[in-house]
Amino acid sequence: MTETKKIREINIEVERVRVISNLKKTKIKCLDCGTISEFIAIPTALQIFEITEIEIAKFVNEQLIHLKKGINNEIIVCLPSLISAKNYV
Ligand SMILES: [Zn+2]
Repeated sequence: MTETKKIREINIEVERVRVISNLKKTKIKCLDCGTISEFIAIPTALQIFEITEIEIAKFVNEQLIHLKKGINNEIIVCLPSLISAKNYV
């Protein structure tokens, strides 16, 4: 007698929404995107996306994110490129 096993598969998708008030962002033209994009400072990006500086460096090496120099010489990152880099990984 053969035994038939029933396998039940359940997929659970979790989506998180993070609301950040008073997010300091700069709207400038991103040469890589070719449009006006929002840029945020790297420390802010690390905090919002819960990523490390190593991951940022990896994204830069893979040319997934676009960086610029901000008004106060800080490095700022193109938000749309960071979002797509995060989804890509
Ligand atoms: Zn960009």
